[in-house]
Amino acid sequence: MMSEMTTTTSKNLPNNLNAAPASMGTAHRLPMLTANRPVKISFAHGSSSLVSGPSEVLIGDGRVALIAGPCAIESHEVLLETAQAVKASGACCLRGGIYKMRTSPDSFQGLGESAFSFISEVKRAVGLPLASEITDPRQLGDFVDSVEMFQVGSRNMYNYELLKELGALNKPVLLKRAFAATVDEWLKAADYVVKGGNENVILCERGIRTFENTSRNTLDLNSVAYLKMHSSYPVIVDPSHGTGRPELIGPMSLAAIAAGADGLIIEVHPHPIHALSDAHQALSFDQFAAIVGDVRRVAEALGRKLTTVEPAT
Ligand code: PEP
Ligand code: MN
Repeated sequence: MMSEMTTTTSKNLPNNLNAAPASMGTAHRLPMLTANRPVKISFAHGSSSLVSGPSEVLIGDGRVALIAGPCAIESHEVLLETAQAVKASGACCLRGGIYKMRTSPDSFQGLGESAFSFISEVKRAVGLPLASEITDPRQLGDFVDSVEMFQVGSRNMYNYELLKELGALNKPVLLKRAFAATVDEWLKAADYVVKGGNENVILCERGIRTFENTSRNTLDLNSVAYLKMHSSYPVIVDPSHGTGRPELIGPMSLAAIAAGADGLIIEVHPHPIHALSDAHQALSFDQFAAIVGDVRRVAEALGRKLTTVEPAT
């Protein structure tokens, strides 16, 4: 499916905006714009990634993929209840941290190994693949059996040894942008995975740290529009960490889709104020369902559909 949103021209852009940064690598880079060349905002010009587990999901094919779930996997019950609710609302993939990279060592660090005893059962029951953050290469053995999309968190975007290990797999890697990484540094981190032979990289814009403190981070949607024009990676937006404020998650989700994002990753919890991690930004099931309704309408206005879950082949 190919849908073009609008056509503009790069004719009036200053020359330095049309030039590839000298340091830019080559993998997944599209040719830079040349003067007078029309710039088409296309939703399906790149490569897509297949997330395959108890069911299959294609990310980056022009549709809008919704990934949702708790910040951290807290218990069998919370995971199951959340997975059922987000799937019923239209999510195609579940999220949930098994190991959490918390700023304070006193905060909940995730269930760790004990979560693996019930994850597969929940996924089978609900039929959604799982995205979860891998924080250390020593977790690879357990992850390969239980997790369909390996998330690299902001704090680990510069962990090149971890990226190299993920490059040797054939699983999709959801690579989050570090708090203060430039787009070029982020693309170079992606190169570490691709150079190992794994082209299944999905970039995730999760906000950057700026002087602004009304929101947890500043969600840089410039990067989304830029990457959709200049790279072929699917790009997902995380408005939960990007704003840190539940009331901003809906509006920024819509803006992300309008900017060309291939999907969203959103934190949802049955009882947001009781969440063990990132409680302040978790959405209730009803709040998530309302946002999905709005996202669907914006997507349809742009000739796009929500990603559906397909049976595993
Ligand atoms: C998360 O997804 O829960 C998370 C910790 O995100 P980030 O790495 O973007 O801070
Ligand atoms: Mn979180």
